[in-house]
Amino acid sequence: MDIYSGPVFDMARTQFHRIADYLEVPADERDRLLYPKRAIAVACPIHADDGTLKVFQGFRVQHHLTLGPTKGGTRFAPSVDIGEVAALAVWMSWKCALAGLPYGGAKGGVTVDPYALSLRELEALSRRYMQEMIPFVGPHTDVMAPDMGTNEQVMAWFMDTYSMYQGQTVTEIVTGKPVATGGTLGRREATGRGVAYLVERAMDRLGAPMTGATAIIQGFGNVGSITAASLAARGVKVIGVSDHTACYFDAKGLDVPALLRHAAATGKLAGFSNELAADPATLLARKCDILIPAALERVIDAGMAARIDCRVLAEAANGPTTPDADEVLAQRPDIFVIPDILCNAGGVIVSYFEWVQDLQQFFWDEAEVNDRLYRVLQRAFVQVLDRAGRDKVAHRTAAMAIGVAKVRDAKKARGLFP
Ligand code: GLU
Repeated sequence: MDIYSGPVFDMARTQFHRIADYLEVPADERDRLLYPKRAIAVACPIHADDGTLKVFQGFRVQHHLTLGPTKGGTRFAPSVDIGEVAALAVWMSWKCALAGLPYGGAKGGVTVDPYALSLRELEALSRRYMQEMIPFVGPHTDVMAPDMGTNEQVMAWFMDTYSMYQGQTVTEIVTGKPVATGGTLGRREATGRGVAYLVERAMDRLGAPMTGATAIIQGFGNVGSITAASLAARGVKVIGVSDHTACYFDAKGLDVPALLRHAAATGKLAGFSNELAADPATLLARKCDILIPAALERVIDAGMAARIDCRVLAEAANGPTTPDADEVLAQRPDIFVIPDILCNAGGVIVSYFEWVQDLQQFFWDEAEVNDRLYRVLQRAFVQVLDRAGRDKVAHRTAAMAIGVAKVRDAKKARGLFP
């Protein structure tokens, strides 16, 4: 039974079996924990601006429904396939369980280069995708959010499309919406703020000051850019950044506010500077205190894991480090890993706050959102470090084990129906 096989799902599977071995999960229990409950593939036809009809393939994978609705982002990217979406859904499950959120994991996506679409085409595709998903999602079934290639505007179109079909406004169908349409204050910044908060906790454990520490960030979308801003606000010197269009390095420290202004105005890093251009292929291997992959999965393989030269590896992306790389990192206790399901959990934690606020129609101020976010992250961080210390296992093993065990306990207690 496997429509998911491919490099990304195989990675999620290998990771899971390592954790299942560590937790001594019997063989016959494993498939129930790993394999997604539902996977949906849809065709999304739209009228292109040139008058032709184009069809894009869309997916949604709902990993488990044991703890409540499923939750997770929607990715618009050329790489999207059912295996990648399934792996990302599985990782969402462990992430939500680790943070103590009442959700299973989900993920969706459309195989498309969103930057090649006009705004009108993007709206048509977003609306058609949500319309095709209506039979499978709902505020108590599956709640979408942004991911790579989607943003607040796409969430507003999703929410509007779903609401028009229901005949009433249903803000709680998606999170990561604009604040003007029932979104929460602090959601846009939540993932990056969470990354910076956890980096500070990690540096604190290492007895290393944040002020003057150097950081390299791969990816300058919502997560990478807010992480850069939040680290700079804590006195960190951001010396390297990249996105799919450009890569810059300056040992003296890049001008983060200028980078943010440029990215906000143009939507990309390209065109920021000629003098500071650097080789994106070697960016991750350059010496720094804090290394932050905030883009695609599987960018740190075994070879790269041997080369990276940092004190803290903060995984803002989902799945940036392969299982082979984990074996190399196990021999490098000098590197403090903040594993992805902890490091980037700020996004879904504040998505949960948004959903709660929408259900209650009672909204919080930004200070309350941030305060609660940091409390949830702090609790998860301490649990992971305690577990890793107690059992002498890697931080990733500890984080995933906490998540997997929570889902397993819930499945055990509920039993099999009928
Ligand atoms: N796409 C984000 C993630 O991978 C956020 C998901 C959400 O907010 O539901 O964690």
